[in-house]
This record gives sequence, structure tokens and C-alpha cells, in this order.
Amino acid sequence: MSEGFNKRKIGRSLFSLRRYIIFFLLIAFVVTVCFLLFFNFLDIREEDVHNAAILTFGNVLLLSFLGATFDGIRHKYTVEKPVRQILDATQRLTRGDFSVRIEQPRDVRRGNEFDVIIADFNKMAEELSGIETLRTDFISSVSHELKTPLAVMQNYATMLQALDLPEEKRVEYARSIAEGSRRLSELITNILRLNKLENQTIFPDVVRHNLGEQLRECILAVEDLWEAKNLELEIDIDDVMVEADAELLTIVWNNLLSNAIKFTDKGGTIGITVKENEQWAIVSIRDTGCGMSVETGQRIFEKFYQGDSSRSSQGNGLGLALVKRVIDIVGGEISVQSALGVGSTFTVRLPKSV
Ligand code: ADP
Repeated sequence: MSEGFNKRKIGRSLFSLRRYIIFFLLIAFVVTVCFLLFFNFLDIREEDVHNAAILTFGNVLLLSFLGATFDGIRHKYTVEKPVRQILDATQRLTRGDFSVRIEQPRDVRRGNEFDVIIADFNKMAEELSGIETLRTDFISSVSHELKTPLAVMQNYATMLQALDLPEEKRVEYARSIAEGSRRLSELITNILRLNKLENQTIFPDVVRHNLGEQLRECILAVEDLWEAKNLELEIDIDDVMVEADAELLTIVWNNLLSNAIKFTDKGGTIGITVKENEQWAIVSIRDTGCGMSVETGQRIFEKFYQGDSSRSSQGNGLGLALVKRVIDIVGGEISVQSALGVGSTFTVRLPKSV
């Protein structure tokens, strides 16, 4: 219904009666004023005046017709054409066709308002199609990540059903199922967290707290993990006060610490420092682990990206995406320096007060 209405509204012909009458009245007015001004002073015969009036009237009719038609042509190409293009494209976009683009007739810097609208429309359509690709990629990554542990659990559950299964196998399979369900629950928690951080307006619960104290607590919480790998810890933590959401920051420290432990082989070293300068509180988490290539380093903050495939079963590629989102929310910065086979250093800068 609205589509038909739009087409009808802008589908006028080159010649419109309304425009013709406007032109006629305008020209007739100008000519009459000229006549009154100039011919009053001249001594002309009445018959000549009569003939001149008829001729002038004919000329006014013709001029009005030409004016109305030319104006119609101008209107058609400068107004109706771009409006129709914009309407068609908008309707395709509302139907979900994000590939739609409007041809840009000339450089927007030399164009009129329509050129600016067209350029903005194209930009909007491009952004929307980018978001759509991200959404579909996200859904396929989530499905893939959910399916893998589910398939593993299904396999072990089937094997558990064998009647003559030795006791140690039974325990092993049950343990694998428990591990699979732990991974699933961790994945779902991360997806929900990320979804919340990305799609809801977060009002950080800003409290003044001791960053050094917070890091020490996080290190203690993963004591089992670094002890199991016999890692050496080099800790140089100052008591630095920051004003930020402590709960959100815990996500950052837990992820960076567990990555440092996960990607470092037995007997390696992990260094943690907390320092400050005038503007920033600076946390650095360094490891002597496997490191990463430049290409991996550029992608680690993407959702579901996992660089080291040998350790991919221990994570889901969402940890650093969460870290980056939190750092953006608290107004900080994060950077990484890494070399393959040497190790990685993640540096986080937080504003000392907001
Ligand atoms: P996950 O650890 O679950 O794979 P993350 O988002 O935490 O996902 O990390 C993404 C990728 O970044 C990892 O797969 C790994 O390749 C790389 N990475 C992160 N931290 C380190 C680190 N300390 N040393 C080497 N590579 C790392």
C-alpha cells in the first residue's frame, strides 16, 4: 500500500497543469506590469493595442508552456529521479536486502543534498551488511563450539553403556563427560557475558580500589593451575589505587592470567607487575610461553579466534574478546608484544580516576 502511494506521489508527468498555471500567472503579471509602465507614456492607436494584447497573450501562453515543461524536465531529473532511487533502495533495505547500494552520480563534495543523502545511505547499508555478516558468523561459530563438546560427551556416554567395561575406563569416560560439560557451561557463560557487555548499556559500578590487592587475589585463585605446571612467578606489584568497576576488571585479570598459564610449558616463568605513572595504572602480565605470530597477534581480540590449534580444546576463543570489551568500557588500553617461541607480554593501562 505505502509502496504504491510513494510511486504515485513521485510519478508525475513532465507537464503539470498546476505548474503551467503558476508560470502563466507569473509571466502574465510581469508582462502586465511592463505594459502599464511603458505603454502609458506612448501614444498608440486603440486597434494596435488590441492586436498587441492578443499577440502578447499568445506569447505568454507559449512561454508558460515552455517554462512549465522545462521546469518539469529539470524537476524530473534533479528531484524525482534521486527520490525514487532512494525510496526503492530504502524499501529493499527494509525487506532485508543489505547488498543494496545507490549509484552515486557525482562526487559528494560537488553535489547537492541528495548526493549527501545517497552517500550516507550507502554507508549505512554497508555498515548493516557488515553487522549482518558478523551476526551470521557468530551464530555459526557458536553452533560449532557447542557441537564439539556435545559430540565428545555423546561418544563417551555411548561407550559407558558397555556392560563389560573395566572400572578404570568407566571412571575415565565419566571424567571426560564431566570435563565436556564444564567446557560447555564455561562457553555459555562467556557467550552470555559477552552478549551482555556488547548489547546492553553497562553502567559500571565504579569503586576506588587497590589494583595491586586485586591482582594478588586473582593470582592466588589460580594457584592450583600454576603449581600443577611448576611455573615460576616473578611478582612486582605496587599498591596502586584506581577508580573502576572491580568486578569487570576481575574478568580481565582472570583471562590474562589463565592464558599466560595455559600457553606456557612446564617450568616456564610468568611475570606480573603493577605500576603507575601520573595518568595511568599499568598492569603487565608476561610469560615465557609459546608466543604468537604477527598475524595471530592482530586477530586475538576477535570472537572465537584461536591461534594455537594444539591448545584450542582448552578454550573457546572468547576470553580476549571479553577482555577487550571490558577494557573499552572502563576507558583503558590493552596492547600485546609477542614473539613465537619466546613469550608474550600483555600490557593494560587504566585511567587512575574517571
Ligand atoms: P582461548 O584462550 O580460549 O583460545 P582467547 O580469546 O583467550 O581464547 O585467546 C585467543 C588466542 O590468542 C589464543 O587461542 C592464542 O592463540 C592467543 N593467545 C592468548 N594469550 C596468549 C598467550 N599468553 N601466549 C600465546 N598466545 C596467546
